[in-house]
Amino acid sequence: MSLPSMTVGGVEVQGLSDGTLPTSLDKVVDMDAAQAERLVGGTDNGTFHIPVNNFVIRRDGKVIMIDAGAGNTMYPTLGRLPGNLRAAGVDPSAVTHIVITHLHGDHANGLVDDAGNAHYPNAEIVVHEIEADFWMAPDGANDSDKVKGNRARTKINLKPYLNRIHRVRRSEEYLGFVPVIAPGHTPGHTCWLLTAPGGGGFMALGDVVHVSAIQISHPDAGMIYDLDKDQAVKSRKRILDMAASERFAIAGAHVNAPGFGHIVRKGASFAFEAG
Ligand SMILES: [Zn+2]
Repeated sequence: MSLPSMTVGGVEVQGLSDGTLPTSLDKVVDMDAAQAERLVGGTDNGTFHIPVNNFVIRRDGKVIMIDAGAGNTMYPTLGRLPGNLRAAGVDPSAVTHIVITHLHGDHANGLVDDAGNAHYPNAEIVVHEIEADFWMAPDGANDSDKVKGNRARTKINLKPYLNRIHRVRRSEEYLGFVPVIAPGHTPGHTCWLLTAPGGGGFMALGDVVHVSAIQISHPDAGMIYDLDKDQAVKSRKRILDMAASERFAIAGAHVNAPGFGHIVRKGASFAFEAG
């Protein structure tokens, strides 16, 4: 499935789906289930699906992808990215850079094929050093199984790319993208801002918004996937406030179709305007 595209400062940002991720009301925290169910528009015994979106930017002869999907590791409803990339006229071998928002499975497991070989043989991985350091570190005594499991998987995902990882530091711009660190979901979760020469721009939100039907209007609601829920809430409010103030378009990894849109203030909270 091809998703909409948008143009920022003469640069086209194209959305590409990896499929959908089943999730459930019991994974939403700090909101009662009835309200969450209303906001997502109904569930199947508590289960509902969120999209997994990736983005491709062709610029100055480079083919830059944001995040890499889940591959075949999570659910049969995922792993569509390579096919959709080809359908959009991009062979995986033509991808020159993969910019990572964070190193969770639905964003990074698709970096490698089922045998652990690079799915993108010519791509450099671009990741913020805080995120890379956290998931590449040895396990600590107090780390949860969730952290240990994702660390083990990250080492598989990055193994064929180890000599071509560009670690971005602080807020250094790279490839026209400025990293905006938004920790909480993961320690180095990064939103990437592509600015337009005349103002405005585009920000890839990553998982600052995990369920767009809930967390844009109710940013205090978290998901059990957040490693530090309180910090994730603070980051979400800060990023949504920034998007509303600076009027750049946003697109998130899990923002419902059409995916691209603007954040506006609504009372003490926010709303999403498509397009
Ligand atoms: Zn995600």
